[in-house]
Amino acid sequence: MRKKIVAGNWKMNKLSEEAVALTSELVNMANDEVQGDVKVILCPPAIYLTTLAKYIADAPNFALAAQNCSDKDSGAFTGEISAGMLQSIGVGYVLIGHSERRQYFGESNALLAAKVDAALSKGISPIFCCGESLDQRQNEDFIGFVKNQITESLFHLSAEQLLSVVIAYEPIWAIGTGLTASAEQAQEMHKALREHLASKYGSAVADDISILYGGSVTAASAAELFAAPDIDGGLVGGASLKSREFTNIIKAR
Ligand code: PEP
Repeated sequence: MRKKIVAGNWKMNKLSEEAVALTSELVNMANDEVQGDVKVILCPPAIYLTTLAKYIADAPNFALAAQNCSDKDSGAFTGEISAGMLQSIGVGYVLIGHSERRQYFGESNALLAAKVDAALSKGISPIFCCGESLDQRQNEDFIGFVKNQITESLFHLSAEQLLSVVIAYEPIWAIGTGLTASAEQAQEMHKALREHLASKYGSAVADDISILYGGSVTAASAAELFAAPDIDGGLVGGASLKSREFTNIIKAR
């Protein structure tokens, strides 16, 4: 059975005290209000991971993710953070291939394949992000484009390795824009991606992979999106910065 997951990508937001306050509020609200089985993954700036680990220690359904990691193990790569370093502080997940990393830092499908390998080699689950631009949606085989991102970055994995990966479909035109894909648009892509995984790994494996939707998810849009059969939760940016809003999204899973 695949997991229901709601992840919050804080991007480059929150100062130290704010990060602690948001995490404490989320843990308290989830404790009081969230029932059932849902994994909540917070993706704060890496500098806060060690501190925030203490604030989620008594919340078994909370976990932390880094927003990025290097494809290299160690060495002269100033400013980079390795998967081994994340493992050494107990981080269980890492975002790989967020569209902002692809766009502003030129991360290619091949580099992302190497980052996926680096994470998995340290027992860290990649949350692999994929998605098309508005231009691609309007002018190209946009489903084929996203399938190809998955082929080039994930299809070298064994089935056992793939089962440790979470996929996040995030149409670029919906990220930070206030434009959410409709539940039908998102379901169409999620179903196509699951079938793509099944074509390589078989349907038993594909059925066990959580595929999250991301792109301007709010408490108002979450319930309808999360009710779609192939949408297993969300990767939330802006709305994850507010404890009330994010808790309501978690409750909608
Ligand atoms: C994201 O950054 O992954 C994201 C989905 O952002 P937002 O929810 O703000 O569109």
